Amino acid sequence: MVESTSSRWLVLDGYEDEPAAFGVPPYVGFHIRYLCGVLEQAKIEYDYFTIDQWRDFIRTEGEDAAAKRLSDISGIACIAGAIVPGRYLRGTPISLKETRNIIRQLPANIPAIFGGWAIRGWRQQGWNPLRSNLFLAVQDTDATLSNFIQTGQWKHCRRTAEQWTQWAHSGANSKAVTQHPDLGDEEKRGPLTYEVEVYQGCVRYKRGCKFCIEPKKGVPIWRTPEDIIKEVRLAHDSGVEHVRLGGMTDTYTYMAEGVKELEYPIPNPQPIAKLLHGLREDERLGILHTDNANPSIIAEHLEPSEEITKTLVETLSDGAVLSFGLESADPNVHQANWLNCDSAQLKSAIRLINKYGKQRGERGLPKLLPGLNFIAGLNGETSATYDMNLDLLHEIRNEGLLLRRINIRQVEGEGFQEIDSELFSKFKNTVRNTIDGPLLEQLFPLGKKLCNVHWETHDGRTRLAAHQTESHTEESCRGNAGITFGRQIGAYPILIGVEYHIPLESQSDIIVTGHGARSITGVEINLDHNRVSQKQLEAIPGIGEKTAWKLISQRAKKIRKSGDINAYESPMQLFEAANVDWDSDFSVFFE
Ligand code: SF4
Repeated sequence: MVESTSSRWLVLDGYEDEPAAFGVPPYVGFHIRYLCGVLEQAKIEYDYFTIDQWRDFIRTEGEDAAAKRLSDISGIACIAGAIVPGRYLRGTPISLKETRNIIRQLPANIPAIFGGWAIRGWRQQGWNPLRSNLFLAVQDTDATLSNFIQTGQWKHCRRTAEQWTQWAHSGANSKAVTQHPDLGDEEKRGPLTYEVEVYQGCVRYKRGCKFCIEPKKGVPIWRTPEDIIKEVRLAHDSGVEHVRLGGMTDTYTYMAEGVKELEYPIPNPQPIAKLLHGLREDERLGILHTDNANPSIIAEHLEPSEEITKTLVETLSDGAVLSFGLESADPNVHQANWLNCDSAQLKSAIRLINKYGKQRGERGLPKLLPGLNFIAGLNGETSATYDMNLDLLHEIRNEGLLLRRINIRQVEGEGFQEIDSELFSKFKNTVRNTIDGPLLEQLFPLGKKLCNVHWETHDGRTRLAAHQTESHTEESCRGNAGITFGRQIGAYPILIGVEYHIPLESQSDIIVTGHGARSITGVEINLDHNRVSQKQLEAIPGIGEKTAWKLISQRAKKIRKSGDINAYESPMQLFEAANVDWDSDFSVFFE
């Protein structure tokens, strides 16, 4: 065993971000929890920091303090998940530059392990840091750390099934959860969403899509419903409310039959029902969402898939999305890249999900909708491929079918085609304008009430350290000039902008008042006509700046005269006194 000293290990959450492994806040990823689970099991003291907390520490205390902190630890374990960190609202994954800085500041005798997809990607791009006692894990970071703790040697390791369960369970009440900044407390729950790993691998492991790494993992390994339910129960004990089932390449083939023998294994409705209903039995569970689905499996086995779809609609929270990987509608691309489903299979799967998932749930969202993924640059792609993709999308829309999210990305890895950037952007823009725009208006119609929007940033789409201070979180900022951005909890939520300040980290309900390119605008309900600010009034469609000013001045005059801050009994009375026509459409915004 590596001797435990008075100092502690530092677990740095650099955030993972894969389609089947969310880990950027408000999510807490499973791999970082497994690392903490290893330390918990070995009874080694440690501190957990998110990379955003680490940045704040450097910002407030300075680089020297960070270096001092690093010289004081027994070891460091970090997961870096995003090769090129994109734009995120609530947290930004660790970058290569930051990773380099930490390694540079770390005294040579302190053991360090870095794992996650970004580490593999940076290594492939030629990053090769030379330092003794530094290990870049390419297999399971948790198992590699555990082996180091036991033997003092660095060696690539894979976790066994028993270790998987142990570390998942001990990770559920580790500091990655209890000290996560998004957990909140009993008085004010945060938006933390617990990503739980259901299985590993893909049923197409023998001949999977050529761009995908999942087939390399071999025959899928499932965790049992009991094991997962127990883990989530432990997470609830730590205060977790919201959960996403991740690590599933296909929700429908969880514990499917004939995985080794059949091209299209047969979905098994029982285990997924046992898992979902088992999770729902715990009343502490808030939002429950899931992961991807394979449309060809659904299309080839409609009967069991229908049963599973009904279970999903029954147990998941509204706004759930099943991402379908079509990648390309071109049969030549399909064949050349061993893709998983063709257009006919896709349409059949979309019809089934729409049949049960279209209805709206408690928060105002359709219960369960398919998402659709396209990849550009696959072998065999020509300009006709983009036309076929567009034709397919128009056919889907002409049938009146709904899609929640169309994701268009470029292929990664070697051995693929150069992408014609002009064709690619033209395709993307056409989809955004002719498909996404109208879909957004249909999914979030004007006047629709959306509940429990969690407010996250002011005046920009990135959360800043200042946003956690009282001037942004206290009730006194409500109604001030500016913009507030927020989202409902769950997978792929729509971004909602409101044209005045709302206390951050609070939740409220809104009415949809407008549509942007990939976001919507709204105004809160339950506005108090005796306290509402000019900016709040201006945000209501039909009330302009001048009218809002007129209403506010009238109210101020009355309060001055009467000394009573509850100047008017109803908003109608206020409008009448200010000589402003009342429109019944305004009622929805007021108490
Ligand atoms: S079906 Fe999905 S997970 Fe399986 S190989 Fe294809 S892309 Fe990968």
